[in-house]
Amino acid sequence: MCGVVGVFCRDENLTSRLAFFSLYSLQHRGQESAGIAVFGDYIHIHKGMGLVSEVFDEKKLNEMRGNIAVGHVRYSTTGESRIENAQPLLVKTKSGALAIAHNGNLVNYQSLREELENGGAVFITDSDTEVIAKLISKQLLNGDVVSALKSVSQMLSGSYTLVMAINDTLIGYRDPLGFKPLIVGEGDFGYVIASESCAIDAVGARVLRDVEPGEAVVIREGEMEFVRVERSDRKALCVFEYIYFARPDSIIDGISVYDVRQKIGRILARESPVEADMVSPVPDSGTTSAIGFSKESGIEYLEALIKNRYVGRTFILPNQSVRELSVKIKMNAVKSNVDGKRVVLIDDSIVRGTTSRKIVDMVRNAGAKEVHFRVGSPPIISPCYFGIDMSTREELIASSKSVEEIREEINADSLAYLSLDGLVEAVGMKKEDLCLACLTADYPVDVSEAAGCRRC
Ligand code: SF4
Repeated sequence: MCGVVGVFCRDENLTSRLAFFSLYSLQHRGQESAGIAVFGDYIHIHKGMGLVSEVFDEKKLNEMRGNIAVGHVRYSTTGESRIENAQPLLVKTKSGALAIAHNGNLVNYQSLREELENGGAVFITDSDTEVIAKLISKQLLNGDVVSALKSVSQMLSGSYTLVMAINDTLIGYRDPLGFKPLIVGEGDFGYVIASESCAIDAVGARVLRDVEPGEAVVIREGEMEFVRVERSDRKALCVFEYIYFARPDSIIDGISVYDVRQKIGRILARESPVEADMVSPVPDSGTTSAIGFSKESGIEYLEALIKNRYVGRTFILPNQSVRELSVKIKMNAVKSNVDGKRVVLIDDSIVRGTTSRKIVDMVRNAGAKEVHFRVGSPPIISPCYFGIDMSTREELIASSKSVEEIREEINADSLAYLSLDGLVEAVGMKKEDLCLACLTADYPVDVSEAAGCRRC
């Protein structure tokens, strides 16, 4: 769970600012650390723990001059939460300094690292991004960055959307299965590459197109070209980008995240109707689906819960103790709305179930007569090894409990999940083009190495 950006800007004084604003709009993709590298007369790199606005200030951005920038916001999946793992990662290669920002997770990280270490390589981080950087750096001895990518792409397994800069070249690359999104925009200033289209909108650029799985976008001396690096028989875009992770105003692979979430709500209302007086989202990620549910069912949309917008999302806070505490301070029930009512709550997913229980209790304690829970995804039964931190199998409530047992555990009057077919219908993409592995346990690549490794 990370966000990446790349900027080519003809005005060297603007580049760092454009990267900053793009990253700022991707803050939802990672709140643990932020970093930007700017390639000018020399390479300026600045990284820090915390939010984009905490890591960068006016003075820092003014100092960072150059025409190319690579930026990253991070939530740790592989690798601990510490500054050494913040990105972009800068490595010196024989062909020049290489800055690399990575969204995703390799599933063969351990064996690749061991192989490199056996060959004498020394690592300064414990992130899989350094493995990718080392492999590219080795392949750069035999050719340019695109041919290096071609060789390295065949060695990597898992999810890896990359934005890189070397010398005068900016490159974006999406792994052959296209697990994570990547999109390109053009503005008067030049080009921007980003995880989501909202980051292109944020700098006043217009969307050109998505980078396709296995494709690279290469920007050199102001000229842009798309290069096919690898082909794959199938795609595996993470369905959770649509369900939860991406911003609703983003468009991913030509499909509006907002539209998908609204359809999820409509389909949920058709599949699992309920007699109720009001429908409310669990804010914020349930909001668009709750609107869809309300439209389809005719039940009034009314907020049962108000979120404190200055608290990070519980799902992506890094450890359990912080998560537990943050539920209490992040939202509160609106007593006057729920008192004496039959309430339908819409959430995007249930991971551990602990948050859902607290929310249901909160609404009950505020006077609700009944609380019905509707979930905008099928049950999460299996862990993700591709970069979404949704805990291990043991912690996933739906991996060991039936829907009825979960209903009891979260203390709801009724509970229903969206069906898998309903989800695929809402996205509007072919099933074979999506990763649905955490919902089906059917992984698009071999994950046995990662599944045996607690560190990954
Ligand atoms: S396993 Fe689930 S969360 Fe992970 S990439 Fe696949 S769909 Fe997304």
